[in-house]
Amino acid sequence: MGTFINGEWVLPVSGSIIENRNPANPDDLIGSFPAGGGAEVSLAVEAASKAFNSWKKTPAPERGRLLYRVIEIAKQRSEEIAQIMTREQGKVFPEALGEVKKGINLLEYYAGAGFRLDGQSLPSETRDCFTYTIRRPLGVVGLITPWNFPWAIPVWKTAPALVAGNTVVIKPAELTPATAAIMVEIFHEAGLPAGVLNMVTGYGPDAGEAILNHPEIKAVSFTGSNEVGQRVISACAAGMKKVTCELGGKNAVIVMDDADLDSAVTAVSVGAFGSTGQRCTATSRLLLHKDIKDAVMPRLIEAAKGFVPGENLGPSVDEKQFQTVLSYIETGKSEASLILGGNRAGNKGYFVEPTIFDNVSAESKIFQEEIFGPVLCVSTFETFEEAIELANNSRFGLAGSLFTRDMSRVLRYAEEVEVGMVHVNEPTIGGEAQLPFGGVKSTGYGDREMCEDGINFFTETKTVFLNYSGSGDRSMVR
Ligand code: NAD
Repeated sequence: MGTFINGEWVLPVSGSIIENRNPANPDDLIGSFPAGGGAEVSLAVEAASKAFNSWKKTPAPERGRLLYRVIEIAKQRSEEIAQIMTREQGKVFPEALGEVKKGINLLEYYAGAGFRLDGQSLPSETRDCFTYTIRRPLGVVGLITPWNFPWAIPVWKTAPALVAGNTVVIKPAELTPATAAIMVEIFHEAGLPAGVLNMVTGYGPDAGEAILNHPEIKAVSFTGSNEVGQRVISACAAGMKKVTCELGGKNAVIVMDDADLDSAVTAVSVGAFGSTGQRCTATSRLLLHKDIKDAVMPRLIEAAKGFVPGENLGPSVDEKQFQTVLSYIETGKSEASLILGGNRAGNKGYFVEPTIFDNVSAESKIFQEEIFGPVLCVSTFETFEEAIELANNSRFGLAGSLFTRDMSRVLRYAEEVEVGMVHVNEPTIGGEAQLPFGGVKSTGYGDREMCEDGINFFTETKTVFLNYSGSGDRSMVR
């Protein structure tokens, strides 16, 4: 299983494979997937190009109806999807099940979008001329996805791409191909024609680069790290491809002195340690008003201890990510005060204890860089203005949250915080199918994802001038 081209699972051309292992127990080999590259991507693009003509002519409501069938099958197979996700990615089963539901919500939104692929009709400056716009699909599009949401992210890119009439070549993260393979299987079980959705598993520098460089691919939707994102943007610029990138985050929660401290503690601990901190929207910085620090810290430590590795706290996704997290913790010990955790948990699997650093300065590496593990950095401030300045002291700008009861501060925060998603009195995490998802500054490049914005990215607008004057003339001077 692994490479799916023109409606069939095919053997890798090169013969090399990637072993897929369970991060909670690396002795557990889940399966072997083809390490595909240029040859597989070429075949996949060829199949997608052939399928495009007929798929783009399939009425959009019919394309939407296919997603309704995907929803039914995904609902029936929810537990199976969540189980494989837990096994290959490590997130605990309830979180995996939650992610399956999130993907189903997205499918629901985009199934309906098949009935709403709207254009506009607008008055023309010219007499006797009807002017309107229609949306057209782009052609073959490339989707490159990360390992942290192995079901929801492939779904939130694939569903709008297909409903808009494009054909797809997807390359899932090399660490989580099994969950993406189930998604592809479900789309075909629902009746998707061969060649419309193709999947090439493999490493970024091989299969990923082949997608970026293929001249037939008209657009690339990428989610992943900033380092790779920059490469994606420059390759797409060189190939004149449309591109959208959702990249890293370093999300801050501000807790003011008038906040409900219990709900703030709950939100910060869920945001920081839930999903092992491996969410792009994870809370990695806590900015505390100095007058409530003594009241908050003991409660926060208690809440963090409620995340027990191997029970409700999953492992880092692989050994490399595990070593990255431990190395940031070592750096943090020389930059700030370690007040909780800081060690590997157990001796099997890539588990790290929930970890909290206090007295973290804005200049330190652990304040500035994305750690992507169960590590929270705490800093204090005296004024609201200082808090906003600290929150904005980051190259990233995905999500942020403010805890306060003061409505004027809420409104100022919503305007001044430099993020794409603003939360008030709730965690930094989460997205909803019908709402734009994405970030500003180094986090986001190109269109937002989910909602109508997903359809905007995967379509282009055509303007139609329908002149019924009979004069054959059109001039700026009349
Ligand atoms: P990554 O950048 O290492 O990999 C992402 C994908 O890119 C993988 O499929 C990988 O194989 C591929 N890739 C790697 N090199 C490539 C190349 N040269 N050309 C083309 N493709 C290449 O990221 P990751 O470690 O899988 O994911 C974690 C990152 O994703 C974090 O930074 C996280 O914040 C980010 N993320 C962002 C969002 C968001 O919406 N902003 C959502 C989820 C994850």
